[in-house]
Amino acid sequence: MADSILYYSTNRDLGEAAGIVPFKGKVSFREALLLGQAPDEGLFMPDRIPSLRPEEILALKNRPYTEAALLVGWSFLQGEIGKDALRRIVEDAYDYDVPLEPVTGRKFLMRLDRGPTASFKDFAARMMARLMSHFRDTGSRLNILVATSGDTGSAVGDAYRGVPGIAVTILYPRDEVSGRQKKQLDTIGQNVQAVSVEGKFDDCQDLVKQAFADPELAGLNLTSANSINFGRILPQIVYYVYAYARLAEPGEEIVFSVPSGNFGDALGCEYARRMGLPVRTLVMPTNENDEFPRFLETGLYAKISPSRACLSNAMNVGHPSNLARFFDLYGGTVDRGGRVWKRPDREEMQRRIFSVSVSDEETRRTIRRVYDAYKVVLEPHGAVGWKGLEAWLTRHGDFPLCVSLETAHPAKFPEEVQAILGIDPELPPSMRDLDGRTGEPRELAGTYKEFSGYLKKSLRGKD
Ligand SMILES: *Cc1c(COP(=O)(O)O)cnc(C)c1O
Repeated sequence: MADSILYYSTNRDLGEAAGIVPFKGKVSFREALLLGQAPDEGLFMPDRIPSLRPEEILALKNRPYTEAALLVGWSFLQGEIGKDALRRIVEDAYDYDVPLEPVTGRKFLMRLDRGPTASFKDFAARMMARLMSHFRDTGSRLNILVATSGDTGSAVGDAYRGVPGIAVTILYPRDEVSGRQKKQLDTIGQNVQAVSVEGKFDDCQDLVKQAFADPELAGLNLTSANSINFGRILPQIVYYVYAYARLAEPGEEIVFSVPSGNFGDALGCEYARRMGLPVRTLVMPTNENDEFPRFLETGLYAKISPSRACLSNAMNVGHPSNLARFFDLYGGTVDRGGRVWKRPDREEMQRRIFSVSVSDEETRRTIRRVYDAYKVVLEPHGAVGWKGLEAWLTRHGDFPLCVSLETAHPAKFPEEVQAILGIDPELPPSMRDLDGRTGEPRELAGTYKEFSGYLKKSLRGKD
């Protein structure tokens, strides 16, 4: 059996000039998962990328999604988890559809919006939650704290609902979430408790940070479900392999278009390619936060701060957190602040990746045009993805097999879809019973003393 894969930090080669102490070691998947990020604030990277044989991929052709998840998961995790335990995890995590909808010819839309909170973040959060439960110390409990301004909190909260050995506390700013978001957060239930704070999102985030640093709370095993956790990247490799197996002829190449914000989703595709999936081009369209397409074109990287507020609001990112991983894979180094310490091989990136910025105006026009031509309903994120694919096809010429990702359900953006198409997208089943749900938040005034007192009273560190 191959040795287990170990994880190193993207900051390992930085010196004192960067103001950090570089972490030169390597950790297991379990440690990377429970730590979230490396001690030097870098991102964990696998020191070896496992390969999938073409026969293994093609054998998935008519198999359920869980088989693809097991194949990809096992290739990374063997030596750290038993295959049966992993099978139970993926079967519990993925109990919903992954539609591949033909749009025109062999150009498909992959709808990743059928999970419980109707965005693709369900794929990563649900598997990560179950992996954390599996890998926690026996007899101990993990307590996850999340500050949210809306959507991430419900995806993470929902993913951890009912997961043994883990409790989740979600803090949100009382006056900054919509009525529908508040309902979603307050009513998750079981081991997930919402806390409504009199203050802003930043106040919620400060409370969480102080709690992590508070020695009096050390016994509570507080942790985060951070979006840069490698445990959230691994599940995002799976759907590329799944789509390819379903749609491709043996040996055929495929193009994926991935609407991108923090680049975690697109990174899943980059890893899938490096595992052996024949990806001709990874298309990574952004909204008007165009720091990455500009970098590819000019070689100069300048983060955008503050980020630009666009329609596709989950992609309003002025310095993508997973850019550090892309740079690392192409031989470069960029730090958390956006400073480039070593340039990646930009020619190689340009050969494999195509990125373009899509304006809000083009996003709206794309929603309209795709509906008129194909009767397919997109929401703003998926429209950025489709427009990016069209831009690549215009430049490259036609290409037989293409898949563009729809990352959220159109019913999550009813005002936009109504304004552009004049139709009310039907709610997905997972959101239909929202009005009938019950649950109350804990209301706090926002001082740290009150918050830490609440945590001490309501959480425990042992089973
Ligand atoms: C988070 C999100 C994205 C962006 O994904 P990244 O992995 O951050 O690039 C795109 N669409 C939706 C709906 C999202 O929630």
